[in-house]
Amino acid sequence: MGRETQTEGKPSASFDTVAASAMMKELQAAYCSGTTRSYGWRISQLKCLLRLTEDHGEDIAQALRSDLSKPELESYVYEISMLKNSINLALKELKKWMLPEKAKTSLTTFPSSAEIVSEPLGVVLVISAWNYPFLLSLDPVIGAIAAGNAVVLKPSEIAPASSALLAKLMGEYMDGSAIRVVEGAVAETTALLEQKWDKICYTGNCRVGRIVMAAAAKHLTPVLLELGGKCPVVVDSNINLKVSCRRIIMGKWGCNNGQACISPDYIVTTKEYAPKLIDALKKELERFFGRDALESPDLSRIVNTNHFSRLTKLLDEDKVSVKVIYGGERDQSKLKIAPTILLDVPRDSLIMNEEIFGPLLPILTVDKLEDSFDIINSGMKPLAAYLFTSDNKFRERFVRNVSAGGLVVNDTAIHLAVPSLPFGGVGDSGMGAYHGKFSFDTFSHKKAVMYRGFIGDADIRYPPYTKTKVRLLQALVSGSFLAIIRALFGRS
Ligand code: NAD
Repeated sequence: MGRETQTEGKPSASFDTVAASAMMKELQAAYCSGTTRSYGWRISQLKCLLRLTEDHGEDIAQALRSDLSKPELESYVYEISMLKNSINLALKELKKWMLPEKAKTSLTTFPSSAEIVSEPLGVVLVISAWNYPFLLSLDPVIGAIAAGNAVVLKPSEIAPASSALLAKLMGEYMDGSAIRVVEGAVAETTALLEQKWDKICYTGNCRVGRIVMAAAAKHLTPVLLELGGKCPVVVDSNINLKVSCRRIIMGKWGCNNGQACISPDYIVTTKEYAPKLIDALKKELERFFGRDALESPDLSRIVNTNHFSRLTKLLDEDKVSVKVIYGGERDQSKLKIAPTILLDVPRDSLIMNEEIFGPLLPILTVDKLEDSFDIINSGMKPLAAYLFTSDNKFRERFVRNVSAGGLVVNDTAIHLAVPSLPFGGVGDSGMGAYHGKFSFDTFSHKKAVMYRGFIGDADIRYPPYTKTKVRLLQALVSGSFLAIIRALFGRS
C-alpha cells in the first residue's frame, strides 16, 4: 500500500503535523532498513509505475478531461507517453547511473585512487502543480525512486480528479512502506513542510516557492524549485512564417491552452514585420481551432473560476482590452477563453507584469530586433526563451545574451521532451534541474571517496616541519615536476 492518509481520493481532515510526523518516522525507518537502496527495489518500483501508467491510460485521460478538459491527444502525448519514456529510460540506464564515477587524483596524494559515489539522500518530498498533474507528480518521483530514496508525493488539490487517481493508483501499485501520496491543500502541505526532509522538489508559483524554501531552510534541506515566469518569443523577419506560426501556436494553445510553464508568454517582433506575423497567426489559429474556438474540442478549459477571473482581469484592464486584435471571447459557464492576441499592450499593464499562464498572447513591437534583449533582460529570468530566425549571427547573440532556464531556436516547448537536456529554471524561474539522468543526480548525493594503501607514506607531511619539507610540499601541491626537482635539489 502506498497511500498514507487518504482513501478513494478524499482529503483527510486529520492529516496534521502529528500525522505528518508519524508518517515521517515510518518512512525514515523504511529508508534506514536499506530496502530502497538496492538496485532490485528501484527497478521493481519503476516497473510498478510503468504498469500503473500502462494499465490506466484511459483513467488518466479521463481524470485530465475532468480537471482541465484536456484533449485526449495532449493527455497521451504530454503526460502518459512522456512518463512512460521517462520510466523506460531510467529502467534502461539505472545500472550505469548507479556506477561510481572514477575521478582523477593528483601528485600530492600519490599513490591513491578516487571515485564519486551516488548515494540516495533519504526521504524526499515532491509537491506538484495542477497543469500537468501526472507528469509533474510522477516525473520527479521516477528520479527519487531511481536514486534510491523513500518519497512522499503531494499532488495539487486544484486538479482533484488527478490527485485522487494518483493517490488510489499509487496505493495499489507501489511499495507503501517507502512511497506515499498525501492529498490535500495548504494545511496538509504546511504539515508536510514542517518535517525534516532530505530534499524537497516543488513545482508551482514563485510565491509558494518562497514559502517552501523558507520551510526547508529551517532544516537545511536542499530544494529543487521548478517555477515559472514570462517566456518570450522573439520573431525575426527571415523565417518560414507558416512553420513558425504553427510552432508558436502549438507551444501556446496546444499545451493546455497556455496553462504551461514553458508556454510562450509574449512575442517580440519588429513594427515592420508584425502585420505579416499577425495575419499568419490568425490564419493558422482558425485552421486549428475553427471560427468559434470556444467550441473546439482541441483546447483545454481554464482550470477553475479563480484562474478564469485572474485571466479576465488581465484582459479587462482598460488600457489592455482596447489592444485585442484577435479572439477575446469567453464563456464563464464552461471556463473557456478563446486564443487571444493583443498588440502593443503598455509595458506597465498587469498582463506584462505577471506570468499570463493562459490563452492570452501579447505581441510587442520594436524598431530593431536587438531591442528584444533589453525587454527580456529587464524582467525576471524566464524558464524558457524562444527565437525564430534564419540569421546565425543573431542566433549566437541571442544564446549569449538571453539568460533563461532553457532556449529553443525555431520551435517552442519541445526541449522538455529531450531527456539529455536539464530541465529547470534560473533566478526567479527556479533552481536545480531534472529529467533523464539529471533527475537521478538531483535526488542523489555525490559522495567523494578516496582510496589509499599503506605504501608511499612520505615523511614530508609529518612534523618536524623543516624548510626542505615546506619547499617540497609547496612544489608537490603546485603539481609542477620542475618545482619538485628543484625542491629536491635544494633550489628554491
Ligand atoms: P498549484 O496551485 O497547484 O500549487 C502548487 C503546489 O503548491 C500544490 O501542491 C499546492 O497544494 C501547494 N501550495 C499552494 N499554496 C501553498 C501554501 N501556501 N503553502 C504550501 N503549499 C502550497 O500550482 P500553481 O502554483 O498555480 O502552478 C502554476 C505555476 O507553476 C506557474 O507559475 C507555472 O509556471 C509553474 N509551473 C512550473 C513548472 C516547471 O516545471 N518549472 C511546471 C508547471 C507549473
